[in-house]
Amino acid sequence: MKINHLGIATKGLTEALKFWEDALGLENVHTEVVEDQKVRVAMLPLGESRIELLEPTSEDSPISKFLEKRGGGIHHVAVEVDDIKAALAKLKKEGARLIDEEPRIGAEGCLVAFVHPSSANGVLLELVQSIE
Ligand code: ZN
Repeated sequence: MKINHLGIATKGLTEALKFWEDALGLENVHTEVVEDQKVRVAMLPLGESRIELLEPTSEDSPISKFLEKRGGGIHHVAVEVDDIKAALAKLKKEGARLIDEEPRIGAEGCLVAFVHPSSANGVLLELVQSIE
């Protein structure tokens, strides 16, 4: 397993990229709207992992709610798994609270599923299975 990316909630990608890209020196290699999650994302590789900047595309986006409550910050940690269905089945068996019982399509066509923060010490956990 490895960390696929860290999701960071921002009010706007343009403003956020001034720090992460211009000042820190990471490169934004991919920007995409994920309709399903009502977010626009920017992906910035960092070692074998990435920073995923998230901007809400509507007022009822989960990111809008997060920004209202916390004003920004780390929104989720995404762990890469080989078999997302097997990982979900194991988590369920162990009593974890799943937000997604079935994987859905995330950024770049990956299969993703979220695990509720109440099962992961307050951290929203995203499972990611890359599609080859
Ligand atoms: Zn993510």
